[in-house]
Amino acid sequence: MTPDTPPPGTWDSPQKILVILAHPDDPEFFCGATLARWARAGHTITYYLLTCGDKGYNDRTKLDEVSPDDLCAIRHSEQAAAARVIGAEAVHFLDRPDGYLVPDMELRREVVRIIRHMKPDILVTCDPETLYAPYGLNHPDHRAAGQVVLDAVFPAAGNAAYFPELLIEGYLPHMPKEVWCSLTRQPTVTLDITDMWPVKLEAITNHKSQIADLDRFMERMRSRRTEASTVEDPRYEESFRVVNYR
Ligand SMILES: [Zn+2]
Repeated sequence: MTPDTPPPGTWDSPQKILVILAHPDDPEFFCGATLARWARAGHTITYYLLTCGDKGYNDRTKLDEVSPDDLCAIRHSEQAAAARVIGAEAVHFLDRPDGYLVPDMELRREVVRIIRHMKPDILVTCDPETLYAPYGLNHPDHRAAGQVVLDAVFPAAGNAAYFPELLIEGYLPHMPKEVWCSLTRQPTVTLDITDMWPVKLEAITNHKSQIADLDRFMERMRSRRTEASTVEDPRYEESFRVVNYR
C-alpha cells in the first residue's frame, strides 16, 4: 500500500456495493457491521439473496406450525427490516429452494445478469472454500453462493463471449473493481468494526424467526469479541478475503 492508497474499505467517491449471498440474515451475520459503516459513509448497498431461507426452522419456528411458504414470506419481511437498519437501499430475492443451492451454469448466468445489470464497483459474497466454520460445518448453500458468484465474476461477467444471450438482452460486460469474500478462514483484510457492532446486533435481531432465545443469542454474540480485548472493553472485527481488479 502506497501512502496515496486509501485503507481497505475506504474509497474517495461513493461506491455501488452489491451483496450476493445465500440466505436472509447472511449479510448481517457475515458482514453487517462493515455494510452499516459503508452505508453511513455514503455508499449504495443492494442485496440479492439467492434463497428465501424457507428451511430455516428452529425451536421458535416449527415445521408443524409454519409452512415453508409462510416462513419464506416471514423471512422476506425480516430481511427488509434488517436491511433498513444496515442502511441498504434494496433487497431482492431469487427465491431458489433453501438448502438445495447448486452453483450450476443456469445460476451462474443469473448472477452474471445481476452483476451486469447492477454494475457494482464492489461485490460482496462469501468464501466458498470455508467448509469448516468455527461453529461446525458451513452450510452448503453458503459455499454454493460463494462459488457461483466468484465463477460469475471471472471469467464471465466482464467477457462478452460468455452468455451472448445476455448481450442480446442488453446486459453489457461489467467487472467489479473489488470482490470481498466474507465468512473466510483466509482473510486478507480485517476491520475493527466495534463502533458498528450495536448496529449489526440490532439488524440481526430483526431476524426473529431465527433467534429461539434472545438472551442466549446476545451472550453468544458478546463472546465474539477479539481475543486481545476484554469483557469490560470488547473489540469486534469482521474479516474478508479481498480480490482486487483495479
Ligand atoms: Zn445462511
